[in-house]
Amino acid sequence: MNNKIWLSSPHMCGKEFENVKEAFETNWIAPLGPHVDGFEKDLVSFTKSGYAAALSSGTSAIHLSLIMLGVGAGDEVLCQSFTFSASANPIAYQGAIPIFIDSEEDTWNMCPKHLSLAIEDRIKNGMKPKAIIPVHLYGMPAKMDEIVAIAKEYEIPIIEDAAEGLGSTLNGQACGTFGELGVLSFNGNKIITTSGGGALISSNEAHINKARFLATQARDNAPHYQHSQIGYNYRMSNVCAGIGRGQMTVLNDRVAQRRSNFEFYKSKLSNLNGVSFHNEPEGSFSNRWLTCIVVNPNETDGITREDLRLALDKKNIESRPLWKPMHLQPIFEKYPFYGDGTSAKLFDNGLCLPSGSNLSTSDLELVVSTILEVLNQK
Ligand SMILES: *Cc1c(COP(=O)(O)O)cnc(C)c1O
Repeated sequence: MNNKIWLSSPHMCGKEFENVKEAFETNWIAPLGPHVDGFEKDLVSFTKSGYAAALSSGTSAIHLSLIMLGVGAGDEVLCQSFTFSASANPIAYQGAIPIFIDSEEDTWNMCPKHLSLAIEDRIKNGMKPKAIIPVHLYGMPAKMDEIVAIAKEYEIPIIEDAAEGLGSTLNGQACGTFGELGVLSFNGNKIITTSGGGALISSNEAHINKARFLATQARDNAPHYQHSQIGYNYRMSNVCAGIGRGQMTVLNDRVAQRRSNFEFYKSKLSNLNGVSFHNEPEGSFSNRWLTCIVVNPNETDGITREDLRLALDKKNIESRPLWKPMHLQPIFEKYPFYGDGTSAKLFDNGLCLPSGSNLSTSDLELVVSTILEVLNQK
C-alpha cells in the first residue's frame, strides 16, 4: 500500500527548526518574545495590513474581533453559512445570534444580494446587525468590492475571515485587508502553519493594541496585577512564532505549488463530463489552498462525489466533501438563514482533493488515475 496521501499536511522548509532552537537557546519560551515581534512584522509586510497581532488561533482572532466591536448577548452578526464552524462559534461565545448568509456561484462565498436582503430584513425586525463575517473559502477571494460597499452603506463593520486565504489577492490587494479586522490561521492544515496559531490584522493600530491587551489577560498598567476588563489567554508563543517566521520565507512558493496542483488536476480532469472546477473571476488570485471539484451525477451516469471519495479512501488517499453549511448544522439550524440553496448544492456535490504543497507528482497522478478509473466504469 502507498503511504497515506493527505488533504493538506504541514510542509516545513528547514529554517523553522533553527528559529525554534534559537528560542530555546535564548530561553524565550513564552507567549511573547523576539519571534512574535518578528512574525508580526513579516505578516504586515506580506499583507500590507498596517498592523498585526499574533494569537493562539484563528478562532481566538475572530472572538477578539467580536469583543472589540462590542458584540454582546442578543446582538446579531451576519456570517457566511458556507464555512468551517470556527467562523461562527465565536458569535455563540458572546451569546450573540448568528444570521447565516448563503453563497453565490462565482466565488462560493457570501452572496452580496442575500447580504443586502438580510440587513434590510433584520433592520425591519428592529435590530441592526453588529458585524459582517465574509470568508475567503478554499482561498478564493469573496466579492469584497460589493460586500464592502454594502457594509459602508449600512455602517456595519466587517470581520474578514481570511483563515484559508493567506496569499490570495483581489485586484492586487491582500485578502484580510478589506475589512475593519482581518483574521488569519496557521493551523496545521493551512497554507502555512505554526503548528497551531492565528493572527489579527488591521489598518487600525488601536484595534491591534487592544487585541494584544485583551489576549494577555487585560492587565492594566500597574506594578501589581490590576484588571478592569475580562481578559483572555490568546497570545502566540515565541516557539510557535519561530516556526511561523520560517514558514513566511516560503509562503510565495507554497502558493505557487498549490496553484500548480490545481492546474495539474484541471488539465487531467476538466474535460470529463460532469466534473467542474472553481475558476477565478477577473481580478481574483486564489492561493488554491484546496483544489475542489464539483461532480454532477446527472452527467456522470449517476456517479457521485461520494463514490469518488470512497474509491480514493480505499487507496489510502484523503479527500473530503466541501464544508457543510452552518445553517444545516444541528447546532446552528435554528438561526435565521437568507439564501437560495447555492451552498447546500455545493455541499452535496463538491469534493476537496489532496492539495498540500508537499505532494509528489506520483501522488497527484495516483489521485487522478483513481478518479478516472471510477468515472470510466460507467
Ligand atoms: C481554520 C479556519 C478557522 C479557524 O482557525 P483556527 O486557527 O483553526 O482556530 C476559521 N475560519 C476558517 C474558514 C477556517 O478554515
